[in-house]
Amino acid sequence: MTTTYPASPKQTGLITRLLGERDTTGTRFEGHTTAPAGLTGGRNGTASQAITALFALPKKATEGDREHAKPGYYATDAGDFVFVKANKAGTRTYAVALTSRTSETGRTTWSWDYAPGTAATLAAAHPMTVQEAAAFGHLHGICIRCLKALTDPVSATLGYGETCAGHMGWPYPQTKAARQALLGVTEDDDRVWKAAEAAREAAQEAEAYAAKVAAREQAERDWSWAYQNRWGRAENE
Ligand SMILES: [Zn+2]
Repeated sequence: MTTTYPASPKQTGLITRLLGERDTTGTRFEGHTTAPAGLTGGRNGTASQAITALFALPKKATEGDREHAKPGYYATDAGDFVFVKANKAGTRTYAVALTSRTSETGRTTWSWDYAPGTAATLAAAHPMTVQEAAAFGHLHGICIRCLKALTDPVSATLGYGETCAGHMGWPYPQTKAARQALLGVTEDDDRVWKAAEAAREAAQEAEAYAAKVAAREQAERDWSWAYQNRWGRAENE
């Protein structure tokens, strides 16, 4: 003979907690916020079965969980960009935001950085489209993924680089004819092509020079800081 007895307060309490934190959409628990009356106790009771079934359901998505979104590039309508990466072990993800800094000399540099509010940004974001990547490239003259200057005329026209296009599955012309078609030059218009190549080399040189200037400015700042630091210490001693 089997006797049934009601579920314990501990069991009904656990069921209520699980109903709050699990995604019950499409299950028999949908719409319930507390444990229903009449559940039976014991190992084979209906309360125990409900607990097992509820534990098997995924947790409800919350705003905070959006930080653990699938790896990839995300954009917001406000023009913010977030990159969700997997950690080295591949056990979890973390988000970095595209951040710009302007030096005293007015040079703007971009980096993918940890930034406060990245999770909030991600909550309002959607997977970045190739159009958004291209618009950023056209506006700032750099590839949004690797942040390198778009010196190649084809890359500058598209708004992103060839290597990153390969990684992201974005279109990039693979033949000389396709590249020329994109740039609006024809096979017999080779002079235009050569001019574009020359412009690309000049832009690369300009970029290398700008990088050298930036490195020198940084070295001067480092030296100045070190000098002041020593000077300050000498005075204190
Ligand atoms: Zn790139």
